[in-house]
Parts: sequence; C-alpha cells; structure tokens
Amino acid sequence: MSSLSGILCFLRRSLLRLESTVLQITGFDRHLGPALAVQGPGLLPVPQRENVHNEEPSFLDNIFWMAAPKKRRTIEVNRCRRRNPNKLIPVKTNIVPCPECGHLRQKHVLCGFCYEKVRRETALIRGQIRAMEGGPLKTPAVETVVLYANETPKDANKGKRIVETGRKRPSWFTLY
Ligand SMILES: [Zn+2]
Repeated sequence: MSSLSGILCFLRRSLLRLESTVLQITGFDRHLGPALAVQGPGLLPVPQRENVHNEEPSFLDNIFWMAAPKKRRTIEVNRCRRRNPNKLIPVKTNIVPCPECGHLRQKHVLCGFCYEKVRRETALIRGQIRAMEGGPLKTPAVETVVLYANETPKDANKGKRIVETGRKRPSWFTLY
C-alpha cells in the first residue's frame, strides 16, 4: 500500500515537473513574472533548482481521512428519525379570525392586514404634512388633528395643527 502510493506520488511529481519544463520552454508559463533581460556572458553558472525530493512520501499525503458510517441505516430507521413527533412543527391552536377584517391571525398578535391599512393611511397623512410644512424641522409643537371630507374643525381643535384630506374617513379611524 505504502509503496504503491509512493510510486503514484513519484509519477505525479514527474509529470508536473515535465509539464512545467515544457511550459517554460515554450513560453506559456504564466506563473513567471516579468523579468529584466541583461546582456552578459553566457558562461555564468546557472543556479540549480532546489526541488529535489529525497524523503519518503507519507501515506497521509494522498488520502483524505474522514469519519464514515460503518453500517447503512435502513429507510425505516431514517423515517422514524425524521418523522419523530418531537421534530415536527407543533400545530397552532391559537388562530382566530380578525374581528375587523375577518382574516386569520394569531391570538394576541396584531392583524397584518389591518396593520397594512393603517400603515398606508399614515404614510399618506405624513406625505401631506411634509408637503404642507416642507420638512420635519418646521413642525409646530402642537397636537395634530386630521380632518377628512365633509368635516369641519370643532372649537376644541382651535390652535392645533389641522391636516385636511379630501378622502373619505376610513371606518377604523374613529372620530373621537
Ligand atoms: Zn384585521
């Protein structure tokens, strides 16, 4: 086993060396960086490559060791493990219809559809306020009253910031 892997390693290394030599001769070697060409005598000693491998190759070089199961587990065992009641998602019993819109929602959790309605209306009102005042730095330090179509400001709302929208008042936006 060890001698076979050693022979394979030697063959691979020889092939790699031959390939790199051919690439260097033909000029296709991309690992070589740009070099400066200097004219000099051709009898200079050429430095030998210190690429000599004399040590015995270890058998750990070629084999990737990892843990492997010793026995195959049957499909019944696998299914028992996967479909174990402890691993399944529990059934929710706290789902009730929303009293406002009728969509299903979890108990004690805000209804997503109603929240989306309120969010859109709030964004419209905010955009109108921004268009009226031109920025958040000019906000007056008074309470804000939103008036919808066919509504007139009451006497109690005098001095407050009044935002008038031409839309119809939504059913959930109660007039206090
Ligand atoms: Zn709802």
